Amino acid sequence: MKHEDCIFCKIVDGVIPSAKVYEDDKVYAFLDISQVTKGHTLVIPKEHTKNIYETDPETAKELFSRIPVIANAIRDAYQPLGMNILNNNEAAAEQSVFHLHVHLIPRYGEGDGYKPNWITHTEDYTSDDLQDVAKIIHEQIQQ
Ligand code: 5GP
Ligand code: ZN
Repeated sequence: MKHEDCIFCKIVDGVIPSAKVYEDDKVYAFLDISQVTKGHTLVIPKEHTKNIYETDPETAKELFSRIPVIANAIRDAYQPLGMNILNNNEAAAEQSVFHLHVHLIPRYGEGDGYKPNWITHTEDYTSDDLQDVAKIIHEQIQQ
């Protein structure tokens, strides 16, 4: 189902122009208008889904199955040294467009424009704490 006010649905439909990198019947990939680094690409399902919480496994499977091919195409084109793959869900996690998308951010070395700000809290968790947290999450998994 398309969402009327969704800019990414409009991009899929060609109503809003985009720099297309890849397209098939299920998936569309295009350059992020705000390039963090050269070749920064967004990969989206054509079918509207808000974010990972609302995404069915089949859509996730289709979406992620295309990522290695697209990532390798970016690598072949621009020879980055590496690549970060990022997906933001909900505003608190910096999601600003509410149509599921995966960022492919090629990395060219120090000062290339992207720096994950990853603060770890290893000392706050004993191995028993980790087992407890894992158990609590595991109990919520419905199979
Ligand atoms: P988010 O912050 O939701 O993870 O990422 C949304 C991304 O969509 C942003 O990086 C932003 O630059 C990009 N974006 C927003 N509007 C447009 C647009 O109209 N065209 C393209 N190509 N990218 C867009
Ligand atoms: Zn949409």
